[in-house]
Amino acid sequence: MNNEIWRFGLIGWPLEHSYSRFLHRAAISAAGLSGDYSLLPVPPMPGGAAELWRLLEKMQHGSFDGLNVTIPHKRSVLPYLDRLSETASGIGAVNTILCRDGRLIGENTDAPGFMTDLDGLIRAGDMRAVILGAGGAARAAAYGLLSAGWDVVLLARRLDQAAAAVRDLSGSIHHRSGGEITGGGLIAASTLDRGALEKVSADCSLIVNATPLGMFPEIERSPWPADLQFPEKAALYDMVYNPLQTKLVRDAKSAGLFARGGVGMLVEQAALAFELWTGIEASRSAMLSSVAG
Ligand code: NAP
Repeated sequence: MNNEIWRFGLIGWPLEHSYSRFLHRAAISAAGLSGDYSLLPVPPMPGGAAELWRLLEKMQHGSFDGLNVTIPHKRSVLPYLDRLSETASGIGAVNTILCRDGRLIGENTDAPGFMTDLDGLIRAGDMRAVILGAGGAARAAAYGLLSAGWDVVLLARRLDQAAAAVRDLSGSIHHRSGGEITGGGLIAASTLDRGALEKVSADCSLIVNATPLGMFPEIERSPWPADLQFPEKAALYDMVYNPLQTKLVRDAKSAGLFARGGVGMLVEQAALAFELWTGIEASRSAMLSSVAG
């Protein structure tokens, strides 16, 4: 019998709409553990620096067994950590923190969570992906795809943001393979506009939405232009999970594409974090029911 009280939490701002507490409380309960998962609001930098440091010190002293990090701190937390995993360092963002022997380790479970949920969605074809957006989630998806040998094009409304992600990611993939790029390449497209989208998506086999367009409450919005046909042979992955089926997913399915929303990735990234913290297998079905039941 395990009498330990597990303490987990989520650092971010704002947090009221986060699903993480439902997912993790479901995993705690399904594993037969005692514990809780708290929301730990930390204002954006620079105002949140003292509170962020206070929470991380508490973790170092054993007050937390695991922390998640979300917007706007996935990158601002980096200088406070002792070490980054290869994945977190490659992406340049952390969504999970663990403590080993008093040292804080940053991990990123978004990339493996995305790649796992992508499984089974892809039809045959060239491994060419187009990612809409260039924030943290886009970086994680690009890292996962590049590591698996895909070519990736990032499209963002601010070209400098896409260019920075491309620079960081090509550096890390380059480094990972010991100086040789063995798998995919990486190209920055121009801003996320209709012309660029039409050009770069024409022969792609995967479209990934990593913008919040279509998310509740603006559920009738879509990042895909209404007058642009979807590429025939592509699959579509929308990272938005609320609603479970976005307008983008509905439109893509109507056009004959295999398409999926982001709830599977949400569950998988949380399950991987739970397993890193506890060493106990997470019940993905219980976690899924807690947010999509
Ligand atoms: P982020 O770091 O804020 O990046 C968002 C990206 O979308 C940025 O490139 C942003 O550009 C762009 N964007 C925002 N509004 C836009 C608009 N109206 N038109 C065009 N581009 C726009 O956020 P994130 O963490 O990457 O998250 C992105 C989405 O993925 C969110 O909906 C989030 O909920 C979802 N997500 C899902 C999972 C999952 O497990 N399923 C995991 C992580 C994230 P600007 O910087 O110019 O605004």
